[in-house]
Amino acid sequence: MSFDTVPKDLRGLRACLVCSLVKSFEQFEYDGCDNCEDFLRMKNNKDNVYDCTSNNFDGIVAVMSPEDSWVCKWQRISRFTRGIYAISVSGRLPKGIIRDMKHRGIPYRLRDTSQR
Ligand SMILES: [Zn+2]
Repeated sequence: MSFDTVPKDLRGLRACLVCSLVKSFEQFEYDGCDNCEDFLRMKNNKDNVYDCTSNNFDGIVAVMSPEDSWVCKWQRISRFTRGIYAISVSGRLPKGIIRDMKHRGIPYRLRDTSQR
């Protein structure tokens, strides 16, 4: 089974601020976020990778079949791609990107559960 969204390296891991997918900085830079690339545009854009991902996250879950996993329902990631996801991600998206998501009708909920 090909599983190319798994982090190749445990150093420099970052989590997407929108969907909480965890990959290495390089993977975000080369492939973008597998769920959010349409509006985060991180591919070949280091600045966007810095802005839209965070190296400050807690707890990870490996997701093999998002549709039938209760963990994914609970994390609200059942419609996302298979991969490694953070339970909580600290950091905030730049305002411009939140605005852009709103225009596209994409709800943004903070992935940071540590401060609630
Ligand atoms: Zn994402």
